[in-house]
Amino acid sequence: MKAILHTLLLAGGLVAASAASAATYQLCSTSGCRTGGSAIAWTSYAKTKYPIVLAHGLLGFSSIVGVEYFYGIAPDLTSNGGNVFDTQVSSLDSSFVRGEQLRSQVQIIRAITGAAKVNLIGHSQGAMDSRYVAGVIPSQIASVTSVGGVNAGTPVADAAALALGIPVIGSAVGAASSTLLNAVFTLVGAASGQAYNQNLIAAMNQLTTASAKTFNAKFPAGVPTTACGQGAQKASNGVSYFSWGGSSPLTNVLDPLDYVFTPTSFIISGASDGVVPQCSQHLGTVIRDNYAQNHGDEVNQVLGLVNVFAASPVTIYREQANRLKNIGF
Ligand code: CA
Repeated sequence: MKAILHTLLLAGGLVAASAASAATYQLCSTSGCRTGGSAIAWTSYAKTKYPIVLAHGLLGFSSIVGVEYFYGIAPDLTSNGGNVFDTQVSSLDSSFVRGEQLRSQVQIIRAITGAAKVNLIGHSQGAMDSRYVAGVIPSQIASVTSVGGVNAGTPVADAAALALGIPVIGSAVGAASSTLLNAVFTLVGAASGQAYNQNLIAAMNQLTTASAKTFNAKFPAGVPTTACGQGAQKASNGVSYFSWGGSSPLTNVLDPLDYVFTPTSFIISGASDGVVPQCSQHLGTVIRDNYAQNHGDEVNQVLGLVNVFAASPVTIYREQANRLKNIGF
């Protein structure tokens, strides 16, 4: 009897396994895309009509030594039927330069998949890069989702830009540190797949509150028209915009990033994720702006060290993919 039961269970498992299919997710740069990993697609919960394109933030990368910037997000979406692409742009540069690099990858991904459009999900500065792309080629973008997006800039960049611009000592420090950081992130880029030029000064300038005003005037789609409000879900350019973010700088004492984001949060008056003010995160439909997450938790970093008492960041991406799927994206 036990043997028969065992055989039946084994047969059931084989049927289930054959119903699910192996799928891969891709790592891209402006040179093209390569396989990043694979997962068994057990469900179709995240099976959107259009590919999901993930866009990293400042100091970001696609994947280094097997660690993705969006930690564990692509494998999870893939195992739920999503067709996912981790992109790579310059870790340090303006969203005009990074946006052009992302636009070229959207074209590559459309060519690979044959998809008419893509769904962009951008973290931090990746949200601005995504908004740039949606502004330039709106007919090829179904949606832009901003995660901890620096949509109205951040006082942290204002402070950094001020520090870099201080005359005499400050400018010397600024020049030396920017040269060093540019060199470091050229290596980070190479390790991730492509060694782009890096420009710390342009990146810092991009993220200031003053630059965000100029950027938003050029790319107004999805930007709230009232202070800390929501933007139109479907903007006049035909693209749908969404956003979410965190408001807890300190979430896990084991994560070294918490010791960066807790002090930086004091530069910001009011709630923030440690780097981006809560209201700056708003774009289009605001799904939620007060997750118990800091700026690193929003991409499930470092290595999944997040608030153990809150919902996993991975599930929030999965739910957004399902939301996009249900809209027809
Ligand atoms: Ca964390």
